[in-house]
Amino acid sequence: MDLISACLVGVNCRYDGGNNLVEELVEKLEQGLVIPVCPEQLGGMSTPRNPAELQGGDGSAAWAGQARIISSKGEDFTGAFCRGAAETLALARRSGIQRAILKENSPSCGSQCIRDGTFSGRLIPGEGVTAWLLRREGLQVFSEKNWVEKGK
Ligand code: SF4
Repeated sequence: MDLISACLVGVNCRYDGGNNLVEELVEKLEQGLVIPVCPEQLGGMSTPRNPAELQGGDGSAAWAGQARIISSKGEDFTGAFCRGAAETLALARRSGIQRAILKENSPSCGSQCIRDGTFSGRLIPGEGVTAWLLRREGLQVFSEKNWVEKGK
C-alpha cells in the first residue's frame, strides 16, 4: 500500500477546488493499492483556499524555521501546512506505509520541484514540507512523473 496525493486520484482538494487526476493512478485506487491523503486539508485548510508558495527556501528550510508558506494574499499558512505534513506522517506510520506518490510542484507535496515563491509559475528545485518530512522519516517519495510499481 502507498500513500497518494488525493488530488491525483480525482479528489477536488486542490486550492481552487479542482484536482490533478492521473488515470493510471486512479486504477491503483480502484485496485485498493493506494490511500489518498491531502496534507493541506489534514492541516485544517479549507477548500477552496488562496494559492500559496514557499518563500525563503524549500520544505527543509520551512521545518528549520527559515522559510514560510505564504498565500497570494499574504497569509502565513506555514503552521497549517506543517501540521498536515505531520498528520500525513502519522497516518503512514499507523498504516505501516513505506512509500508515497505525491503531486509535483506543490509547497506540500512537491518532491523534486516547487514554485519559486513569486506566483509567476516559475519552478525551482526543492521539496514541499510533506515530501521532505516523509523522506526524512525514511519513506520513499515519488511524484506522478517518476513513480514506479512496487518491487521495481
Ligand atoms: Fe494535492 Fe497535495 Fe495540494 Fe492536497 S496538498 S491538493 S494532495 S498537491
